Amino acid sequence: MSKPRIAILGLGIMGGGMATRLLSSGFQVVVFNRSREKSLSLAKDGAFVAESPKDAAASADIVLSMVADDNASRAVWLGENGALAGVSAGSVLIESSTLSVGWVKELSALASQHGCELLDAPVTGTKPHAASGELFFMVGGSASALEKVRSVLSVLGREVLHLGPAGSGALVKLINNFVCGVEAASFAEAMTLVDKSGLDREKCLAVLENSALASPLIKRIISRMRTNDYTPNFPLKLMTKDLRYAISEAQNAGASLKTAAPALELFQQAAEGLGDLDFSAVVKSPG
Ligand code: NAP
Repeated sequence: MSKPRIAILGLGIMGGGMATRLLSSGFQVVVFNRSREKSLSLAKDGAFVAESPKDAAASADIVLSMVADDNASRAVWLGENGALAGVSAGSVLIESSTLSVGWVKELSALASQHGCELLDAPVTGTKPHAASGELFFMVGGSASALEKVRSVLSVLGREVLHLGPAGSGALVKLINNFVCGVEAASFAEAMTLVDKSGLDREKCLAVLENSALASPLIKRIISRMRTNDYTPNFPLKLMTKDLRYAISEAQNAGASLKTAAPALELFQQAAEGLGDLDFSAVVKSPG
């Protein structure tokens, strides 16, 4: 496939950046977003605006969805005028949202009934990586379907890794975000202890950002604390969803993520009032 036409469903922080990246790389892009304003701003960059996911899918060789959660994904693929009703047999469908493994497998089976293959291809990386083509795609599904769309994913990502059959990408993404969620929650608790103990916060940060715990994630949180800017790159409410899905997948696998439950509790408390801010705003939650 050379320069296939691509439908992007969902133009939030991530989908919007991905659509812009494809447009600036010379692809024909047709977009659909539940709230139409976001589509219209991409039309200025050359995107075709579809009236429904079905219309977007009908005019595309590849359909990529990047929406909030399982409910949103169900809505864009299966809802009224959903994308599956418009796809042509042979199109490759890509689900890049962070979703439950159960739903991704169900969607994969439904795609087959329409003569299409679905790849679950969630990502690591955040807003700037989506806009600059530096995402890391974790792909589940058939290797042959991946080869059909690799040229497109390579424009969007610095890495495209095939992990196994349908659901493998979704599961690895949830494992990744389980650890990120626990790490961020424990750091937020550490900050509460710093403040309640009357320690000098800035001096403590100077220690912590230079110790072994200073992962890229923790460095990002510290940077947000210093600027007091929690404009979302990764909305906090989506972390609660990821922790919920990870706990549920672990139960299905007979594993127990004991540290995930208190992390989820902390994020759920933070989401009441801070849910639309960046996930790093968990440090602002009283805990
Ligand atoms: P976002 O900015 O909140 O955008 C969410 C998108 O989903 C919007 O297009 C929204 O449409 C759409 N949506 C929500 N509910 C819907 C529904 N019921 N029906 C149809 N569309 C619906 O989120 P994001 O940050 O782009 O994240 C998108 C996905 O990528 C999520 O699964 C997230 O976990 C994952 N992810 C995010 C990041 C990150 O750093 N942001 C990184 C990796 C993975 P409206 O505009 O109409 O609300």
